[in-house]
Order: sequence, then structure tokens, then C-alpha cells
Amino acid sequence: MSAKLIIGNWKMNVATVEDAKRIAKRTRTVAVRLMHTTVVACPPFPFISAAASRRSSANFHLGAQSASIHESGSYTGEASAAMLKSLGVEYVIAGHSEERARGDSDETVSKRIARIIEAGMTAIVCVGEKARGENGEHFEYLKDQIKGTFAGVSAEQATRRVIIAYEPVWAIGAKEAMAPSDVCEMSIFVKKTFADLFGSEAGLKVRVLYGGAVNFRNARDIITAGRVDGLLVGRESVNMPGFVELLKAVDEIN
Ligand code: PEP
Repeated sequence: MSAKLIIGNWKMNVATVEDAKRIAKRTRTVAVRLMHTTVVACPPFPFISAAASRRSSANFHLGAQSASIHESGSYTGEASAAMLKSLGVEYVIAGHSEERARGDSDETVSKRIARIIEAGMTAIVCVGEKARGENGEHFEYLKDQIKGTFAGVSAEQATRRVIIAYEPVWAIGAKEAMAPSDVCEMSIFVKKTFADLFGSEAGLKVRVLYGGAVNFRNARDIITAGRVDGLLVGRESVNMPGFVELLKAVDEIN
């Protein structure tokens, strides 16, 4: 089995730079001892530098929660992909449902992905249905969303620099995660849709993560029975005892 990828999306859940340093340090200390797991911490923009380390590590990487669709210029409040890259960021989340809810369309997400990849980083692209339909309407919704989201991405970019985070919106911030058997079905569907768009090699290569109410208790089952390549973790990624347990549980899978 290849290394599992755990993305920690801190969101705006860390209050001070001291907290950010503490969480990053603890995460890095645990991550460097893992054998089969790669960890990416995605702090809010102001805390990215504080979370960075001068020591490089194969298991711990810096991520960001978004990047501007613009390369540079008069865009108050935005941070460009190139700026993030210059801070040592290697992964950037694009199309998170919370950003989509604030107005990001598939087209905007597509532009974001292109900027992230052009800057030399990997895009963690979030997709997922808002609700599950009794007649399987969520499959159609997801297919359309994936097509729209990747409309501006080339097959070459999709093969080398994209990771998909399947996150059913109804499970984000919820009490319960999706059942692992359903995660398995949806991750196969995501890969199949990706293969239809970019070819079978891209479909085989692309890593699909699951996100939505993951914690140290359910992480292992979701990966093994859900047959995903890793997890996008929100709340639990800043809850230190829980996140450490989660990382250890995932690392034991191999
Ligand atoms: C997320 O924000 O992507 C997420 C999965 O959140 P949580 O783990 O808190 O449900």
C-alpha cells in the first residue's frame, strides 16, 4: 500500500500564533516518526510562516486553505499562489464547500486549481454532494460538479498535480461521518468520472481522500473499508490529543 495522506484543514479554528506554533510543532513531531503516512497542515494565511520549519521532513508538509484566482495585482484581501509557494507551501485546498457556499462557482474553482498548479504546487480539490437523493441524484450532481470543476485543467496537470477530496457537504461539521461502505462506492465513482474526463491513466493515478466528521475513532475504518488514499480532516486536526491518535491509527494500517 502507498503512503496514506492526511490533510489537516485548520480552518479559522486557531486563535493565536502561539496556538498555531504549538499545534504545528506537535503535528510535525508525530508526523516525522510515521512510517506509512504523510501529513499536510493547512493553517490560516497569517499563521503559515509560524507553522513552517527550517528542517525539511518527508512526512510533514505545509498547505494552505485557498489561493487567489489572480496572479497578482489590486485584489485586496487575497493571497496569490506564488506568495504561498514562496512561504514553502506545497499543497493548496481548492473548492472547499465553505468557500463554494460563499460564492465560488465550478468555474472559479477551476481557475484556482490552474493557478495553484502553475505555481508548482498540488491542488487538493474538494467535491461532494449537498444531499443524497433517494434515486441516486447525488451521482449526477457529483459528475456535473467534477466536470465543471476540472474544465480548465489539462490532462497533464490532472495526472501530476491533483488530489481529490470527496467531501459530502452534509457530513462536514456533522456528528457522524459517511458509512465506510458508502465512502467506497463514492470514491470509485469519483475515480471513474475522473477517468472519463482525463483517461484511464489519470483515473488510476489520482488519489481520492474522504472528508467529513473524521476523528480518531473512525479514521482507520474509513480508509480501509472506504478504500480511500487518505483523509481531509477539519475539526479533529486542531484537537491535539485526538489528531495524534488519528495519525497513529492510520499509520498502523500498513
Ligand atoms: C472539512 O472542513 O473539510 C471537514 C471535513 O471538516 P470536519 O472534519 O470538521 O467535518
